[in-house]
Amino acid sequence: MGGIKRLGDVTLIQLSNLDSNIYLLGDTVIDSGTGFNFTRLYQAFKMLKMGFSDIKNIVNTHGHFDHIGGNGYFIDANIAIHDADADIVENGDVKKSYAEYYDGKLNPRNVNRRLKDGDTINVGKLDLEVIHTPGHTPGSICLYDKKSETLFTGDTVFSDGVGRTDMPGGNEEDLSASLDRLSGLKVKALLPGHGNVLVLESSKTLKDIMATQPAGSND
Ligand SMILES: [Zn+2]
Repeated sequence: MGGIKRLGDVTLIQLSNLDSNIYLLGDTVIDSGTGFNFTRLYQAFKMLKMGFSDIKNIVNTHGHFDHIGGNGYFIDANIAIHDADADIVENGDVKKSYAEYYDGKLNPRNVNRRLKDGDTINVGKLDLEVIHTPGHTPGSICLYDKKSETLFTGDTVFSDGVGRTDMPGGNEEDLSASLDRLSGLKVKALLPGHGNVLVLESSKTLKDIMATQPAGSND
């Protein structure tokens, strides 16, 4: 596993099965992986004719280690994460981030923007609406660009299932309420925190997409 995929204005970098998907949009990354795979990340950036210092903004979909561990490579970037998970980044919390479980280290890092539901993040041509979707963690978010019907889902929804709730901060009732909230969104591109992306010929509601998913949950 590993590689670079171009998806219109978005570039997907995949490093390993453990690392979150890293989405690159201009000078912004959505999630940063574990930080374990420096060489692969460095090579991916080199292939894109970029360096880590070109990244000025990081948006973390939630505070789990496999999504925030790579933040440390982007020292020139401002970090945005939902208010409810922001302390994990600021404290370098190895328990709540699950870093401990991976034997990972997490340097405390200042959060520049504590996101809340309804905020908008402008990234190039995309106007990403922050949708607070607790359940996988208290501060999990999805990001939705209405115009292109692009939905970044973090670990809340995958192309083949939904996020797990048995990790620190997980809550099944919250997840189910979050999924209800997302279900009416029209989606043409589903860009999850792990695994395959889903790009459709014509848009479907998230509810219809999820109806065709196999039962079970994922990371
Ligand atoms: Zn997670």
